Formats: sequence, C-alpha cells, structure tokens
Amino acid sequence: MGTVSKLASGVYIAAEGNYEHGRAGQKICKITPHHMAGILTGKQCAVNIFQKPGRKASANYCIGNDGDIVCNVYEEDRAYTSSSRANDRQAVTIEVSNCEIGGQWRISDAAWNSLVNLCIDICKRHNFRLVYDNTPNGSLTRHDMFSNTNCPGPYLKSKFNELVTLVNAALDGGSQPTPTPTPQPSGRKVGDVVTINGVYVASNSTKKLNPARTTGTITKIISGALNPYLLDNGNLGWVNDSVIVSGTSSSNNQTAKKSNEEIAAEVWAGKWGTGTERKNKLQAAGYDYNTIQNLVNKGVGKNGSSTSKPSTPSKSALDIAREIWTKGNWGTGDERKRKVEAAGYNYAEVQKYVNEFASGKRK
Ligand SMILES: [Zn+2]
Repeated sequence: MGTVSKLASGVYIAAEGNYEHGRAGQKICKITPHHMAGILTGKQCAVNIFQKPGRKASANYCIGNDGDIVCNVYEEDRAYTSSSRANDRQAVTIEVSNCEIGGQWRISDAAWNSLVNLCIDICKRHNFRLVYDNTPNGSLTRHDMFSNTNCPGPYLKSKFNELVTLVNAALDGGSQPTPTPTPQPSGRKVGDVVTINGVYVASNSTKKLNPARTTGTITKIISGALNPYLLDNGNLGWVNDSVIVSGTSSSNNQTAKKSNEEIAAEVWAGKWGTGTERKNKLQAAGYDYNTIQNLVNKGVGKNGSSTSKPSTPSKSALDIAREIWTKGNWGTGDERKRKVEAAGYNYAEVQKYVNEFASGKRK
C-alpha cells in the first residue's frame, strides 16, 4: 500500500505499465491538474481508462464530475500524465472531469472544490506552496507546457491563478478555506425574474442549457456557491451575479437609482438610443426595458419631465437610518424596505447604518 490522500473515496491502481514505480529519487514538489476531455466519475476514469493494460497513461488522482476523488497511482509512484518524465517524477498529477464537451471545457463547481481541497492537502503533506509562473519551473504546471495539447482546457487554465490564491491562503493558516470565491447573493430571492447577458455558467453539467432563452426565474439559491442561482429548475442552469444584467430583485434597485418615469424622460431626450441599443443599455443599467418602453409609448416624460416625478432623495442613507433608529419612522421589515426603496434610497446601505446604531458602533 502506498500513500493516498484522506480525501480519496477509493483506490483503483492503474495497470502495470501505465505508470512507473517510484519517482527516481525525486521529491514531490509540484501539482499538475489535467482535464479528462470527457465527463466521467473519478472511478470511471481510473477503471475504464487507466486500468486498461497498454494504455501507458495514468494519474495520481482522478476527480469526477460530482467531485469524487479516487487514487489511481500512489503518491510514491510516477504517473504517466503530463508527457514529461521530469515533471511527473516531481508532480502529483490530477485528472479532472469536465462538465461540458468542447467550448471552454468547463468543470463543475463540485470538481473545482475537490481540486482546491486536494491541492491544499497535497501541499500541506509535502510542504510546498503553489507557484504559477507559466513555466515548468513553477510548482503548478500544465500539460500544455510539455506537449502540443489542449489540456487542461481554456476554463481550467483560466482558473490556475485562483487556485494558487486559494491554496496558499489556506496554507497561510486560513482556517477552513472557502474554495469557491463567491459573489455573494446580492439580495436576490427565489422567485426573482432575471435577465442574463447570454453567458451561461453550468454548474451541473448534465443539465442542458438553453442559450436561446435570456430570462429566467430563480428557483433555488445556494448561498456561498460559485454560481448560486438555479434558473427555471435547471432549464437555464446555474448562474452568478456577473451574468445577470437585470432583474426584479431588491439588488436591482441598488443600481437602478432613477425612477422608471425619469428614465422614460431620458429616453425621450435621446439619452438611451433606440431599438436594440436602447434595450441593451437599459438592461445593462439594471432597468426593466418593457416597463420603461411602455411608459415611453404612453408619452410619459415626453415634455422633459415625468408625469409623476418622485422626489430625488434629498437625505443621505445615514439620515434615514437615524430617523429609523431615533424616531421609529419608516416601519420595520419588509414594509421598511419597500418604503425606503420607494423613496429612492439604497435599503442595504440604510440597514447597514441601522445595524451600526443597534450594535452601539454608531451614535
Ligand atoms: Zn493532460
């Protein structure tokens, strides 16, 4: 028996001849993540591919699409993975399943999390940090440094710097690292209807995304996940805030600072262009295009001022928070949120100040 990470759920050693016993005296001081160029479980990769005699290929670990980790070559031994004897004698090599075939060759969040955690475990036990300098001299290396290959694929390759950051932060004593650098859900709720900019981020792989659709309803939120919002029960996949250009959630009000009527007036004044350009600009700025276009069609704002121009916020968010705290104005809970936002204030900011009053941080 050789050394296997505690994170591995199984050991399926490659066929004889698909790896080299020992590392010719070399110490482990590198990690080389690969992509499988396929969607597999860790076990499928280890058994169906690397246990085939004569394959002349293997990996120390295989990470499946669901994040399962299996060992395929003991850490004491050199796997045949990276087309470089020198590299693989010093590296723990890791095959990672994709969650899409072709394109960016993405990997699932689950596989990514497992990769981060496995790298942390390897670096800790073998006492080295990740250094990525785009050359074979670093301690994080790529297959395509050694041969003419697409491996590790554009997506995983684009995440190498992030991998270094996360792993080294954990080595620096970050307690339990959060492997997914996460855009925090910005106040979005289940039921919110959001518009996406056409970039789809699949987290669960097996679900087919529907790129013809650009609007969906948030049906599930996993706080802290890389792509926290599930749209239309998976018909549109998982996305994060970076691809949402507009929506009906409260967070939207933070960007949509002006009222729809004011924007309609601006449309009449020519500020937002016409046709598709107008639509794109309004959505990118966080406004609901259809609502505003309806107002424009009704002539709202035509004469330079909106018919029901709401007062521009004249007080600061702190003023409002003080009113809430000292006078009890603005109600509580949802009512407060509605009133504060209707008056054009950023509820999150106001509430932050209220919390500071409550905690004694602010007087
Ligand atoms: Zn490779």
